[in-house]
Amino acid sequence: MHKEEGRSSGKKNMASTLKGITKHEVPKSAYVLMVLLHVISSVMLTGFARSSDSMMLMGMNIPVVAFVGIFSSLGNILLILMVLLFEKLGFVTALIILVAQYPMMLTSIIKRGAVSSIQGLFTNTFSMIAIILIYANTRKSRKYMEKVREQAVIDALTGIPNRFACTELMNDLIKKGSKFAVVSIDLNNFKSINDTMGNRVGDEVLKGVANRWKNLADSGKAGTIDFIARLGGDEFSLVVRGYGSDDSIVNTIRVYESALKEKLTIDDCDYFLTACFGYAEFPTDDASEETLFSCADAAMHEIKRLGSTNHILRFTPALLNKEQNLETERKIRTALENDAVFFNLQPQFDMDHKLRGFEALARMKDTDGKIISPGEFIPIAEKIGLIDQIDLQVFRKSATFFAAALRKSGADVTLSINISVKHLMKNNFLEEIRDIIDISGIPVKNLEIEITESIMIDSDRAMHCIEEIKKMGIQVAIDDFGTGYSSLSYLNNLPADLLKIDKSFIDEMNSSESSKQYVASIIQIGHILGLKVISEGVEAEEQLKVLRDIGCDFIQGFIWGRPLPSEEAEKLIVSA
Ligand code: C2E
Ligand code: CA
Ligand code: CA
Repeated sequence: MHKEEGRSSGKKNMASTLKGITKHEVPKSAYVLMVLLHVISSVMLTGFARSSDSMMLMGMNIPVVAFVGIFSSLGNILLILMVLLFEKLGFVTALIILVAQYPMMLTSIIKRGAVSSIQGLFTNTFSMIAIILIYANTRKSRKYMEKVREQAVIDALTGIPNRFACTELMNDLIKKGSKFAVVSIDLNNFKSINDTMGNRVGDEVLKGVANRWKNLADSGKAGTIDFIARLGGDEFSLVVRGYGSDDSIVNTIRVYESALKEKLTIDDCDYFLTACFGYAEFPTDDASEETLFSCADAAMHEIKRLGSTNHILRFTPALLNKEQNLETERKIRTALENDAVFFNLQPQFDMDHKLRGFEALARMKDTDGKIISPGEFIPIAEKIGLIDQIDLQVFRKSATFFAAALRKSGADVTLSINISVKHLMKNNFLEEIRDIIDISGIPVKNLEIEITESIMIDSDRAMHCIEEIKKMGIQVAIDDFGTGYSSLSYLNNLPADLLKIDKSFIDEMNSSESSKQYVASIIQIGHILGLKVISEGVEAEEQLKVLRDIGCDFIQGFIWGRPLPSEEAEKLIVSA
C-alpha cells in the first residue's frame, strides 16, 4: 500500500512539496463567504432600487433608493477582494458575476425604460475594466514573488532545494504530526576531488549527484515520498515519507546509494562516488527539527568513522554521547592549539575569613567565545590523553600571574594547582614542573599541588612522585577526600599537608547528626595525622557554623568566594 502511495505521489514530490512549503493559502471557506455576501448585497440592491419607500434614520427621512449606491460599492469591493485573495478563481467569479448582470440591466432598460439601469451599465463596465487591470497586476507581482520565494528555497549551485526548504518541510511535518525519516548524506572523499581537480570539477560533481537524486525523488522510484536538499558543501539531506517499516527507509536509502554507482563523467574524467547515510526518525528519535538533524548527523559521522562497506546507519541515543564527546575533543584540541585554556582562581579562607590562597581552575573558550565547563572537558581530556597539556597551561599561566602578584603585594598566600594522576605518572612530570617553577619564579613554599584521593591508592610510582614534589618544598593536598577508599594505614603513610573534604559530604552534613559526625571524624583523623583540613563547596551559613564548631581549618566555597578572573583575584591578594 505504501509503495503505491509513494509511486502515485512521486511525480509531484519535489515541486509540490516546495510549493507547499512556501505558499500560505487563504481558506476556501472565505471564498464561499464572499460569494454569499455578494449575492446578498445584490438582492438587497435590487430590492432597494425598486422601492419608493423611505426610512427614518437619526431623525431624517431618507428614501430607500439612496442605499443602492452603498450596496453597489460593497459588491464591487467584494469582487476586488476576491481577485486579490483568490487570483484566477476570484477573477473568473467576478467576471461571471459582472457579465451576468448585463442581460438583467438591458432587459430593464428596454422593457421598463429604467434610466437608473443605464448608470448601472456604465458602473458594471468600469468595474470589469478595473478588475481586469487588478488581476493582470496581481499576476505580475505574484510571479515576481514566486521567483523571490524560489530563490530563497533553492540551492544556487545545484538547483535543488536548500537547507531552508528542508527545515521548513520538516517543521511542517512535525506540526502535522506526520511520521518521516531524515537522512544525513555526506559524499566520501569529495574533498580530495576538490583539492586535486579544482573547485569547478567539484561543483560539477555536486551538480551531477544532485541531479540524479532529484530525478529519483521526482520519479518516486524508491516507493516512498522523498525530498532531497543540499545543505552545503557535499552535505545533502533526504526527507523520506510514506514508508511502512524501518526496512523501507533503508530500502529507499539504498536506491539513492545505487544512483551513485554509475560513473560520473566530467571533462572526460570518470568519477566513482560513494556516500555515507545516517538517519533518524520523527517522532521516534526526537520531536524537534534541529535535534533530528543532529541525530542523523551523529549516525552519519559514526558510519563514516567505522569505514565499513555498509554505508547506512540508524541513529541510536548512545551515538549522541559519542558525538558530543568527539565535539568536545575537537574543541579541546583547538583550544590547546590556540592557547585558549586559561584559569580562574577560587579563594580559600581560614575560619576567620583570612585569605589562605587560591585554587587555579581550568577554563576553556570555544571558538565562538562560549566558556566550556571543566566538568565537560576534563574527563574527556583525561580519556584522550590531553589532560597533561591542560594542567600545564593552567599551571604555567597561573604561576606566572601569581608570582608577579606576590612580588607586587608582598602577600604570603598559596596557589593550588590540580594535577591529574595520569599526568603525574608521566615520565617527565617532575622536569615539567621544575621548568615552570623556574620560568615563572613562583616560590615553592607558596605552591600546592592537588591530587585526587581515589586514584593515588596502590601506585608506587604516584607515591614516589608525591615524595619528590614534597622534597622540592611544594605542599600536597589530597583532593575530593572521602570519595576514595583510603584505609587508615594508607593515610598514615601519605606525604600530604592538606585534606580537601569533598563537597558531597559538606552538602549532606546538616541533613543528619551522623553525616555531621562523619565530617567531624575526617577532620579529627586529619589532625591526628598532622594534616590541615579544608572543606570544599561551602555555600550556607549553617555549614560554616558547624565547620567552625567541629574544628575545620579552612573553607573554599561560594559563601566567601566564587572562582574569579585573575584581575579580581589580584585585588584580594593585594588586600590580604
Ligand atoms: P575540584 O578540584 O573539586 O574543584 C572544585 C570545583 O567545585 C570547582 O568546579 C569549583 O568551581 C566548584 N565549587 C567550589 N565551591 C563551590 C560551591 O560552593 N558550590 C558549588 N556548587 N561548586 C563549588 P569547576 O571549576 O567546575 O571544576 C570542576 C573540576 O574540574 C575540579 O573539581 C577538578 O576536578 C577539575 N579541574 C578543574 N581545573 C583543573 C585543572 O587545571 N586540571 C585538572 N586536572 N583538573 C581540573
Ligand atoms: Ca581541586
Ligand atoms: Ca575537589
